[in-house]
Amino acid sequence: MPELPEAEVVARRLRERIMGATLKDCWVGRRDIIREGFPTLAWHRGAAITGVERKGKSVILTCTKAGESRYLVAELGMTGLLLFRLHAPSFAKHIHVRLTLEGGKEQELLYWNPRRFGRMSFLDRAGLDRYLTRRFGCDPLTVTWEEFRDLLQTRRGRLKALLMHQQVIAGIGNIYANEILYRARLHPARQANRVSVSAIRRLYDVMKLVLDEAIRAGGSSVRDFFAPDGSEGRYKRQHLVYGKEGQPCPSGCGKIIRRMVEASQRSSFYCPACQRK
Ligand SMILES: [Zn+2]
Repeated sequence: MPELPEAEVVARRLRERIMGATLKDCWVGRRDIIREGFPTLAWHRGAAITGVERKGKSVILTCTKAGESRYLVAELGMTGLLLFRLHAPSFAKHIHVRLTLEGGKEQELLYWNPRRFGRMSFLDRAGLDRYLTRRFGCDPLTVTWEEFRDLLQTRRGRLKALLMHQQVIAGIGNIYANEILYRARLHPARQANRVSVSAIRRLYDVMKLVLDEAIRAGGSSVRDFFAPDGSEGRYKRQHLVYGKEGQPCPSGCGKIIRRMVEASQRSSFYCPACQRK
C-alpha cells in the first residue's frame, strides 16, 4: 500500500491544490530519508511547482526557478504518504520532510513514512532520467497491448510476481495483483510465457479496468492510506479476493477463497476453481 491507484489519487489532488505554489522552505528531519540530491536541497527554495506526475508508485513534482527545472520525487512505495496537514497527532513523529508553500491552496506538504521503506530524491533532469530508467518498467495505464503481450510472452516468471515487478510493470502491488488475476481468471502461480494470447488479452483489459475503477473510487484504504486532504479511498469495499480467505468465491462457483504464501512472503488470494493452474 500505496499502489498505482493511490499514487494517482495523490498526484491528482496535488495538481488541484498546489500547482503554481512557491516552495518557501524545505525541512528535512532525517538525512537518510533523502535517497539522492540532499546537497541540492537549497536550490528548491523559491522555486515554483509547475508540474505533478505519477510514475509507478511515486509522485514527481517539477520545480522551476529562473527558467531551470528540477525534480522532487516522493516514493510512496509501501508506507509513504504526502499530506497537506497532520490528520492525527500520532502522525507527527513520522513526518520526515516538510515543504512550506506559498501562493497555492495549501500551506504545507508533508512526507509521512512510518516504516521508511520509501525515500525522497531531489534531482536535475539527467538525474531524473537515470532514476526513471533504473526503477520503472512500463506504466499499466499507458502500456500498449503489443508491448504488454511481448513482455509476458518473453518472461518465464510467475504471473503474479511479474505483475508486481516494478522494473517490468511499474505500480501494481499485492492488493491489485490479486484482484486483477482473480478478475482475469488466472492463477497467480501460472508461468507467464505459458499463458495463451487470449488470456494475456483478458489480463491486459482487466488490469486497466481494475486500476481505473480503483482510481475513480479514490484508491483502497487498507492499513494507512489517506489522500493528501485526509480522505479515505472507497475501493476496499469492492475488493473481491484480497483479504477474503475462507469466504465463498464471489462468482458463485461454490468454492472458498484460498490464501497461498509464496517465496516472496506476500499472500496470494485466489479461487481454486475460477483460477486453475
Ligand atoms: Zn470461484
